[in-house]
Amino acid sequence: MVSEKCLELGTARSCIRELFEYGLRQAAVVGRENVYDYSLGNPSIPAPAKVNETFISILRDTDSLAVHSYTPATGGPEARRAVAEDLNRRFGTAIRGENIFFTCGAAPALLSVIRALAVKDAEILAIAPFFPEYRPFVEGCGAAFRVVPANTETFQISLESLEAQLTPHTQAIIVNSPNNPSGVVYTRETLEKVGALLTRKGAEYGHPIYIIADEPYRELVYDGVEVPFIPTIYANTIVCYSYSKSLSLPGERIGYVCVPDQAADSQQVFAAVAGAARVLGHVCAPSLQQRVVAACTDLRPDLEAYDRNRNLLYDALTSYGYQCPKPQGAFYMFVKAPGGDSQAFSQRAKEKNLLLVPGDDFGCPEFFRICTCVSQDMIRRSLPVFRELIETQA
Ligand code: PLP
Repeated sequence: MVSEKCLELGTARSCIRELFEYGLRQAAVVGRENVYDYSLGNPSIPAPAKVNETFISILRDTDSLAVHSYTPATGGPEARRAVAEDLNRRFGTAIRGENIFFTCGAAPALLSVIRALAVKDAEILAIAPFFPEYRPFVEGCGAAFRVVPANTETFQISLESLEAQLTPHTQAIIVNSPNNPSGVVYTRETLEKVGALLTRKGAEYGHPIYIIADEPYRELVYDGVEVPFIPTIYANTIVCYSYSKSLSLPGERIGYVCVPDQAADSQQVFAAVAGAARVLGHVCAPSLQQRVVAACTDLRPDLEAYDRNRNLLYDALTSYGYQCPKPQGAFYMFVKAPGGDSQAFSQRAKEKNLLLVPGDDFGCPEFFRICTCVSQDMIRRSLPVFRELIETQA
């Protein structure tokens, strides 16, 4: 016998994976150049050269036994300090190494925090559109997953919709900015209002409501848009970070949780995150990767290719009549499906080998997602198909 819930999660179809695999099969039939695959968000710019050089120099110059040893469960003290100092330099905070818990990317970081907060009857909120994995993360930890409906005008957070979802059982809301899938960056004004609302409701309920800031795209922004560091706006913020996108290292699995001292019950929360990581087996993140990111905190990706793709797609699609917010960050576009049904529209697109992800799993069934981390050449070849689809939409 196996757990039914795990069996269901392990065998459930992942729409994104299915599309990606369909694309590979179709490429063998119609040729790679005739498949336009916008399904998977895999970084398409290489890691900065210094990252690879750092891997090599650590392996070459450091005692092998030390590099490959277990670190403390939380991560090595020097790497934790390097991350904290980098945050303080950039955001004027007073974060200490002791506030950082290294993880294998943002996914285990989120899971550890959610698990740590999953008290009896806990409710965790996500703001649509949201990263689909939040639902299994929350439900897998035994908490209730609640959705704050999207504000499809601006894709900022609707205060009214958020307030309507808050209850005395709300433990946390997950805030992801720059956002996957919309590419929208929540403004300082939005976040200040959210912070004020959570402060008021937390006082009313007699317990803090945490923001879980999911920030794998923090550095992926265009046109100098500000990505406010949420702990500087709302004290009860726990940050989940990943180097998967910011250093183009998704396969290396490295990130962290940061529980600043200012967050309510911070020591208890940090200890509970450590306990959650322990029961989930997410302790001692890879030692080599900890050392590499600690030496590369000041590196930023060269976003030119993503930015070019973003402008090319946005300008072309809107000129054909598609509607979408112009992404300010990350590498996605969230486009209103002509006809209003993204399943039906994506199916029509798939018949022309254009692979778009329907928005249902993101909490917005009338939109579809495009990953813009693709080759510019593929974008150019796909544009006539986008145009034909909207022109022939009934
Ligand atoms: N959160 C969001 C919004 C994401 O888009 C992703 C990955 O695509 C993750 C978390 C998980 O990132 P990681 O690769 O660091 O586990």
